[in-house]
Amino acid sequence: MLAYLVFRHSPRVIFPDLTRIRLTTMPTHESQVKQQLAELVALPSVSAVDPAFDMSNAGVVDALASRYSDAGFSVSRQEVSLTPSKFNLIARLGSGSGGLVLSGHTDTVPFDSGLWDSDPFVLSERDGCWYGLGSADMKCFFPLVLAALDGLDPSRFVAPLTVLATADEESSMAGARVLAASGQALGDFALIGEPTQLIPIHQHKGILIGRIELLGRSGHSSDPSLGANALDCMHDIMSGLKEWRSRAAERFVDGAFKVPVPTLNLGRINGGDSPNRICANCELLFDIRLMPQMSLDGTVAEIRDLVVKVSDAHGIKGELILPMAPIAALDTPASSALVGLLSELSGNAPQTVAFATEGPFLNALGCESVIFGPGNIATAHQPNEYVEIARALRMIEILRATIERFCCDG
Ligand SMILES: [Zn+2]
Repeated sequence: MLAYLVFRHSPRVIFPDLTRIRLTTMPTHESQVKQQLAELVALPSVSAVDPAFDMSNAGVVDALASRYSDAGFSVSRQEVSLTPSKFNLIARLGSGSGGLVLSGHTDTVPFDSGLWDSDPFVLSERDGCWYGLGSADMKCFFPLVLAALDGLDPSRFVAPLTVLATADEESSMAGARVLAASGQALGDFALIGEPTQLIPIHQHKGILIGRIELLGRSGHSSDPSLGANALDCMHDIMSGLKEWRSRAAERFVDGAFKVPVPTLNLGRINGGDSPNRICANCELLFDIRLMPQMSLDGTVAEIRDLVVKVSDAHGIKGELILPMAPIAALDTPASSALVGLLSELSGNAPQTVAFATEGPFLNALGCESVIFGPGNIATAHQPNEYVEIARALRMIEILRATIERFCCDG
């Protein structure tokens, strides 16, 4: 809180780097950002696991490619899928290695148009906020980056700036996965502009979704020896999962998280058909939220061992299937230079969140990623999504100072 007050009232004394910021240009930036955000909001780019809702993001990618080319970036598209067509956009300013990545996703979640007070695809300004689908999460990020670059002399760049616009973050993270698989180094630090109300987020949990399928043998219920009961077996597996959960909660405790231990949720079970038949099939869906200290591969191996061991003891075929590739936890050190800078500039101490992001994929490419954006996660993924204009404009100053610190000469 102290740092926050100091920053608000005397930025030039405490943070000399900020003296280069041209605060007087804000009204221009506001109208420029509003116009560009309206353009992006008007281009539908829903991504969804259900093909009935899934759309191409090509319109948004084309619009961004045009804007960033005009701003002097060299842009390239990376194909993510063909049907519908989806792309990542990689826009680069300056040359060499290292530097800064500013990353956002181009897609939005599906929407309930009947519950909106205004058209979700028409940017609407009310009460100091911009309303529209994807306004906070996170189409506003791309115009804010362009505003932050406004007037910055390209000859001052000593390290590259890469702006990344990904596909499918809201559904499968396919864009980030394609990027990570390409192995290309993008920069030393990455700022991902997801909605955090200008609080730097350096850690979040990972997600592992699992499906356990058991195939036993049916038979008359009057004689258990006539079959192998998949429900009996699943009962034992569930007991084993609960024991695993208790042990994991003792092994991995981190008070920085609201829920300070890993979780395992038994989400859905399906099996059997009749009380007088031995149950031959049973399926269980569960999810695990992993702490940053936990190994993804190690966790999968432990659950798989449990399934095989218990199902073998029942004479049943048991299998662990991962319907969605797991997402690792984000674990950027609090001591990272980018965490420290964003904390200074915003006046907010670094925190953790419960939602997953593309950060772990960028960290796998050698970045130190921090999640930091002007929106509020509480307004995202629901009707009347908005971003506060004052906070969005403040993000421009912070982006500018961050670009100067990591990409420009002194
Ligand atoms: Zn998002």
